[in-house]
Amino acid sequence: MKITIVYDNEVKKQGLKADWGFSCFIEGQNIPPILFDTGASSSILLHNMKELGISPSTIGIIVISHSHFDHTGGLQGILELNEDARLYLPASFYRAIPDRNVVKVKDACQICDNVFTTGELRSIEQSLALKTDKGVLLVVGCSHPGVGNIMDAAAEFGTVYGIVGGFHGFSDFARLNDLSLICPCHCTQYKQEIMKLFPQECLDCGAGLVLEL
Ligand SMILES: [Zn+2]
Ligand SMILES: [Zn+2]
Repeated sequence: MKITIVYDNEVKKQGLKADWGFSCFIEGQNIPPILFDTGASSSILLHNMKELGISPSTIGIIVISHSHFDHTGGLQGILELNEDARLYLPASFYRAIPDRNVVKVKDACQICDNVFTTGELRSIEQSLALKTDKGVLLVVGCSHPGVGNIMDAAAEFGTVYGIVGGFHGFSDFARLNDLSLICPCHCTQYKQEIMKLFPQECLDCGAGLVLEL
């Protein structure tokens, strides 16, 4: 599988725009292309997708982690260019999207081959668990339920070896000791501390970063 960071507070590739928010694009064998979150602005999201060669119409599945604007702001722009994608929204999602293929997620379930949602944790946010040969890689939006709680929930899908996305105010750094891939993005308050503690395991996040799993 391959994950491309499309939207982030920082930028790692020339031509892309940085903005407060998060979105990434997940591709793999035998799975429809997945867009996870949509950043804060449609115009920035679509600009970055164009620069990265990602066509909105090819997206087969859209997953929204939680209702906050910095993860949902670009959704309308994508929906205008893509009428067919299946949407996985947390049960608490703030608005209805009529005439679309919408799955409201409450409990953990499988989305497609090797891709699972943790279910909506703490009534606010879902995360993705990607099953790979190395174990489970977690893709998180803001981690409002807590990084530790998300890791515990994802353990039902296998041993978690990595995590990518926003960690918010997470500071229980020992929880990361057993991971071999840590990519703190977006709202991660203690990004510098985490990068310093785990220099071998950490990837410096930013729009344009590509992770090959
Ligand atoms: Zn949030
Ligand atoms: Zn956020």
